[in-house]
Amino acid sequence: MNQQNTNILDTPIEFLKGVGPKKAEALQKELRVFTFRDLLFHFPFRYEDRTKFTLAKDATQEGQVVQIKATIISVEVVKGKRRSSRTQAIAKDPSGFINLVWFQGGKWIADNLKTGHEYVIYGKVSLYGSRKTIAHPELSLANESSTLNKTFIPVYHSTEKLDRMGLDSKARRKLCKTILDKIDENAFLDNLSETIKTKLKLCSRFQAMNWIHFPESEEQRQSSINRLKFEELFFMQLRMLQNKELRKKKLVGAVFESVGDHFLNFYNNILPFELTGAQKRVIKEIRADMGKGFQMNRLLQGDVGAGKTIVAILSMLIAIDNGFQCCMMAPTQILAQQHFTGISEMLEGTGVKVSFLTGSIKSKKRRDTLEALKDGTLDIIIGTHALIEDKVVFQNLGLAIIDEQHRFGVVQRAKLWNKNKKVAPHVLVMTATPIPRTLAMTLYGDLDVSIIDELPPGRKDIVTLHRYDPHRPKLIQFMREQIKLGRQIYVVYPLIEESAKLDLANLDQGYEYLRQYFMPPDFQISVVHGRMKAKDKDFEMQRFVEGKTQIMVATTVIEVGVNVPNASVMVIENTERFGLSQLHQLRGRVGRGAEQSYCILMSSYKLSKEGKERIATMVKTNNGFEIAEADLRLRGPGDMMGTQQSGALDFRLVNIVQDNKILNVARHIAEQIIEEDPYFQNPENVNINKYLAKVRLRDRNWGRIS
Ligand code: ADP
Ligand code: MG
Repeated sequence: MNQQNTNILDTPIEFLKGVGPKKAEALQKELRVFTFRDLLFHFPFRYEDRTKFTLAKDATQEGQVVQIKATIISVEVVKGKRRSSRTQAIAKDPSGFINLVWFQGGKWIADNLKTGHEYVIYGKVSLYGSRKTIAHPELSLANESSTLNKTFIPVYHSTEKLDRMGLDSKARRKLCKTILDKIDENAFLDNLSETIKTKLKLCSRFQAMNWIHFPESEEQRQSSINRLKFEELFFMQLRMLQNKELRKKKLVGAVFESVGDHFLNFYNNILPFELTGAQKRVIKEIRADMGKGFQMNRLLQGDVGAGKTIVAILSMLIAIDNGFQCCMMAPTQILAQQHFTGISEMLEGTGVKVSFLTGSIKSKKRRDTLEALKDGTLDIIIGTHALIEDKVVFQNLGLAIIDEQHRFGVVQRAKLWNKNKKVAPHVLVMTATPIPRTLAMTLYGDLDVSIIDELPPGRKDIVTLHRYDPHRPKLIQFMREQIKLGRQIYVVYPLIEESAKLDLANLDQGYEYLRQYFMPPDFQISVVHGRMKAKDKDFEMQRFVEGKTQIMVATTVIEVGVNVPNASVMVIENTERFGLSQLHQLRGRVGRGAEQSYCILMSSYKLSKEGKERIATMVKTNNGFEIAEADLRLRGPGDMMGTQQSGALDFRLVNIVQDNKILNVARHIAEQIIEEDPYFQNPENVNINKYLAKVRLRDRNWGRIS
């Protein structure tokens, strides 16, 4: 290995020819570029195709971007009003003329532009009547620019400050070129093995770096991007899998070896239904995992209504049978409350002690609960985020269940691990909606996954209909019929995030409208929205759960988890304002009982293309996994719930929707390596290992800086 060359890339950027201290500072501030290497890793976001020339006569469109080879025939400075002036030039090619104009920096141009010389002119055409003009064109002498103009020209993201400092895209292009000219294969030692490169036909790292900045053909560009995308995904997966392996070795978990009385009693005498095959399989997976002596970190996926709660209960009973405590954490008060009510009921008479903790539980009650947790009297605590606070101390926490994961971060998960100082508790994360495979691999690639891919028997598909606003009178009639049949109905309004006021007005109006048709004493309506006090919300919720009200008018607070089997109609207002996953969640509130259920999606006639597609998807399928895929496709990964803060999707080049094939290959190869050669002892894998070590070190230093 050529040590010196490797070091070149670590050279502080200020020492690059054409940079210096001032520009270096700007690069650091604006782009976090500190070294030569950092600069090269700011890839172009597009390329200008300089392989083709346009004739002046063909520059006919406003905004057309053209490259013209033409001779400058005149230059003049035109004085304007006050002190403004502009510089104009006329260029001529065999087909005709084109005007060039500069509003700033014109003097320099006027002094330096050589009339009678041929230039390559690049820029955007503006039309003033029949006059074609390019303002502030890029210019280079035709004979000097021969190397540049036969290729694709990289364009880099810039900022106002960078432009001002002389570090615009064109300047950066030069800097990158300077670095690339200085280095050879040794500077970018490959971080993949020959086997991988041969198998996947990937170019070398050095080639990729050259080609992504200065491709000479479309093939080269594709080849470099392909290689670099693979690299990003491969090392991400490798690190995740390695972390998982390390954790398994380092974090001993409590061994739950026996299935005891609580589990058996519940399973044989209390469980009100037969488990589905999928539920049984998943419980087996969890049991095996908790018995191995390593800490479990498992993601439980399943469509809405697939029956995740019962899996959670049975898992907790295993922990309790082995002398451990459990906690179950939900993202909202209502959900936590409902889990508490449901689970306490199920476990009544079993001797298992269950309690409840949220931020709004105060003083004595709180103290008592905390005390009981600490001295081990309590077996299960159910609650919200309040559970991860430091004040919550367990005697012997063995299993932590997180419902609706995507609102919890990795940090919170880690906080739970620390709730047992002796052995890290097992962690089971349950998602509210299915996550597309690609996203799951990226966000939760370090977790083991169990999937419930089967709904409890006897569920009828929910009939989903799209209706426009003028249909409302018929809707009212339908609602009355359903209520007469003894059913209950949800009517949901969107949360309008820009305006809580509008939001409420929306819901109020809807409520007033409904009240005209559904009056006491025959009909009762519950109202629940996000700005109500928790106590009032619970009260209203409870009335609906007990069947005292037939209609629940709500904002999306009911989105997750609420379980009222008798509710069989879901009316969604302003459907176009909801995301797909959200709609699917909402629809999942019905179809839980034996009756035929309906989901009616109301909207105005004004619908965006995407809105239409979302509604069409809902009407077409009840399958949560299909819906999640469509959602990802329509919205892109960045907008999916919970991905924003995670940082897991901060790729340079990869888009996990479009690049899912590469992701699958990368995952597969990473798995193979971790399985066959976990310590990278095979000489084949030495580059991979070196690179991983370097990245880890860089991350650690980075962590210290920021
Ligand atoms: P989710 O997976 O969305 O959390 P739940 O756990 O709330 O679903 O279960 C939805 C409903 O299905 C509940 O009323 C539950 O009692 C019921 N259920 C769960 N498993 C079964 C089963 N195997 N057979 C019949 N009903 C079931
Ligand atoms: Mg649930």
